[in-house]
Amino acid sequence: MEKVLIFSAPSGAGKSTIVNHLLGIFPQLEFSVSATSRAPRGSEVDGREYYFLSPDEFARKVERGEFIEWEEVYSGSCYGTLRSELDRIWSKGHVVVFDIDVKGGLNVKKLLGDKALTIFIMPPSPEELRRRLESRGTDSAEAIEKRLAKAQEEITYAEHYDKVIVNDRLEEACKAAEEVVSRFLEA
Ligand code: 5GP
Repeated sequence: MEKVLIFSAPSGAGKSTIVNHLLGIFPQLEFSVSATSRAPRGSEVDGREYYFLSPDEFARKVERGEFIEWEEVYSGSCYGTLRSELDRIWSKGHVVVFDIDVKGGLNVKKLLGDKALTIFIMPPSPEELRRRLESRGTDSAEAIEKRLAKAQEEITYAEHYDKVIVNDRLEEACKAAEEVVSRFLEA
């Protein structure tokens, strides 16, 4: 069966580490590359970070119904998942992996139903999330407050996810994720 794994989490919960761990273990997992109407930044490569489309090309694909979901995330910059991307990955017999925000994740789930498993990576507590964001040292105090406020909102969506994995100790969270994914792949 064609399958999809959807991972969401507040920033600082450790999602990328867990997802990368899973990609290293299960060779059949493959990241979905989104399309965007924004220009590439720095070392970004078309087809790797994103499929970079002009605003006109993006709009044309929207009109033709080529996206399974899309959003204007920032004013003037649209992002979305092309159906052709799912077909590309499924045609190899692979399982599609989404690393996506809560709204996008639940939209994809609504569309794909039992083909999709949604997994929410939960930080152990607001205090620990704050500690992790501060120790990362990449954000200003103001940016950390913003991320924490956003995290509170994102966490309210966790109850709609199929599985919630609390990332208290990374090693245990990776193991729990492995078990959940392994069961889903076998089903
Ligand atoms: P970036 O910093 O790469 O320009 O923007 C990333 C933002 O776009 C994040 O908020 C991310 O969740 C969102 N995003 C990336 N790909 C998709 C997608 O396929 N669909 C939706 N709805 N949002 C996306």
